Amino acid sequence: MTAPDFKNTAIAFQMHENSSLRRAYWLFKSISSPSLVRTGNAIVVQALKIGLPVRWAIKPTIYRQFVGGETIKECSPVVQNLAGYGVKSVLDFSIEGKEEDADMESALQETLRSIENAGKNPNIPFAVFKPTAFIPRRVLDKIEQPWTLTSDDHARMDLFKARVDKLCSAASQIGKPILVDAEDSWYQKFIDEITEQMMQRYNRDRAVVFNTLQMYRHDRLAFLKSQHQKAVDGNYYLGVKFVRGAYMEKERERAARMGYTSPIQPDKASTDRDFDAALTFCIENISKISIFCGTHNENSCLYLANLMQQHNIRPSDPRVWFSQLYGMSDHISFNMAIIGYNVAKYVPYGPVKHVIPYLARRAEENTSVKGQTGRELGLISKELIRRRQAKD
Ligand SMILES: Cc1cc2nc3c(=O)[nH]c(=O)nc-3n(C[C@H](O)[C@H](O)[C@H](O)COP(=O)(O)OP(=O)(O)OC[C@H]3O[C@@H](n4cnc5c(N)ncnc54)[C@H](O)[C@@H]3O)c2cc1C
Repeated sequence: MTAPDFKNTAIAFQMHENSSLRRAYWLFKSISSPSLVRTGNAIVVQALKIGLPVRWAIKPTIYRQFVGGETIKECSPVVQNLAGYGVKSVLDFSIEGKEEDADMESALQETLRSIENAGKNPNIPFAVFKPTAFIPRRVLDKIEQPWTLTSDDHARMDLFKARVDKLCSAASQIGKPILVDAEDSWYQKFIDEITEQMMQRYNRDRAVVFNTLQMYRHDRLAFLKSQHQKAVDGNYYLGVKFVRGAYMEKERERAARMGYTSPIQPDKASTDRDFDAALTFCIENISKISIFCGTHNENSCLYLANLMQQHNIRPSDPRVWFSQLYGMSDHISFNMAIIGYNVAKYVPYGPVKHVIPYLARRAEENTSVKGQTGRELGLISKELIRRRQAKD
């Protein structure tokens, strides 16, 4: 089995023409400036509040880099393009922070359409949803203090469970697995409980429902093991999506403000250690567990690929998937796909104003030139130089 070569920029950027690579370079360069990102985010939030149009500035730039389109149909060329290089897509309807029931119902209908679409397209191996799209934030924020919940809150929680069941049932019927995203820790217990019930119901023959474990939480390795034990005892399969976690500062800040112990690991090394340990645990118990590894960390991908090799699991084994976000870390996605690993890009879609929180997170996490952005810029420059030299 060959190891992926993440330095191969010709393969990494084979989908991109020079003009699109230059545009990506310009974009990563712009968002590498923390002050520009802070000011840009503030201007967009303000403009949206007072109803100013921001679409003209966002759609051809940051939106185009990180988002598949406004509708499922608009994403079709992206899905087709990626598939041409062996990279699959997971279409993620990006809607956040909606509190009205009508908005939640329409998000539910759209997510059902995306599941149906996945059922018809072999290049879309998973469906996905963000639980917070289907229950008001004000209910989730009270869930840690059950005595504060009103009868209306309980009704919303029941409605939420029914919506989640509808989505998981639809995925089960079309025969595609469904990923449940994770966000804030203070209501994750509630989501975990429901997801576990869904696994008991729909994961009888294989993993259909996947919960997300954020390994920046110090309790998640133990949680994984307990989930596995329950799956063994209950005779069902466990589906797990692994990420490190996207809300570290917010979690730490809330814990400090409210005076409880932070759920976050003390340092990055501890997060990395538990991420690896979780992957090892899953591969050692692969007969019961399916893994969706969502990361831009090269070492984590190599680590999992090595584990697969050590356990004689072929790269295309349907129980192991690698995933990166659309517009980021193509050097991982394309170089793994070309040697036969299962790779899927998370492709968010939705109207421009709905995906702004997602774009703001992408901009913020890319502000450090030392980190991800520096790596993207270095790889794009290397490829542009390589192409220039190949022409000479
Ligand atoms: C396909 C996909 C799906 C995703 N879905 C979700 C989701 O459902 N929920 C979610 O929360 N995120 C999700 N993310 C985002 C993810 O959690 C990470 O924020 C992002 O991928 C960066 O982590 P990494 O493993 O790629 O890389 P790395 O650069 O190796 O890790 C960065 C991460 O390490 C952790 N970290 C950094 N510093 C410290 C520290 N001092 N102490 C402890 N931990 C630290 C943080 O989690 C940080 O985001 C997803 C990412 C991908 C690729």
